[in-house]
Amino acid sequence: MIINKNITPFNRWIGRDGNKIEWIVLHYTANTYQPDLAKNECAAFADRYVGSSAHFFVDETEVWQSVAIEDTAWHCGDNPPSKNGATNRNSIGIEMCVAYKNGVYSIPDRTVDNAAALVLELLGAFPEAKICRHWDVTGKKCPGPWVDDPGLWEKFKERVERKPMTQTERKEFDALKAQVATLSAKVSAGEEFDRVIRRDVAKIDGRTEPKYDGIDGMPDWMAPTAAKLVRKGYLLGKENGKLALTEDQARILVMIDRAGVFGE
Ligand SMILES: [Zn+2]
Repeated sequence: MIINKNITPFNRWIGRDGNKIEWIVLHYTANTYQPDLAKNECAAFADRYVGSSAHFFVDETEVWQSVAIEDTAWHCGDNPPSKNGATNRNSIGIEMCVAYKNGVYSIPDRTVDNAAALVLELLGAFPEAKICRHWDVTGKKCPGPWVDDPGLWEKFKERVERKPMTQTERKEFDALKAQVATLSAKVSAGEEFDRVIRRDVAKIDGRTEPKYDGIDGMPDWMAPTAAKLVRKGYLLGKENGKLALTEDQARILVMIDRAGVFGE
């Protein structure tokens, strides 16, 4: 997925003070102005000290990053008591942009889709991390719609949490793994075959490609015959004066010469 960046120099701490990433915390922006866009949120945090922040902002079409993963964003608090152990130092914060109409917040489906895709990507990088709402950390009503309707949160969790494989899935997975191993062995064998063929072709090319252009560069067994043929005008070379003899041609000429055909 494309992650746009506009890193804030104001609203974060460098590093994580030795903490590992254990949590991914979901929020909503609770903005009343519309449209509520990730790009604009990110730009606002990059522009000035706000005193809060998040690593990512997500809307219906884009993901924007405001704080580097290895740095600490200020989104869920630092001081105990954290209800579930998540703190700014050990978590990644994701803000979902909202729709606001007639005094009611909602998180658009496509924003939830993008948040899910982002969480899946982060879980790929941090497989041990757990996900939670801001609500689960401090009891703040955030993301509002997911606190009002915990079913929405449960649905989101189902989308991103990995379940252990069933026996059937495990069998299919093992079979595929074995197939991949067989195929890659075949690929290596094919590559080896290809290498040998190329080497042999190169050898043949070496015999049939013109190799000797002048008497000077020739081996001793070849040079006297070639010199004789040039002297007698039997061997003229090409238009640029190069003899362009292949090794095979030279061997044949030497044999004929030894039979006395070209005279002294
Ligand atoms: Zn929050």
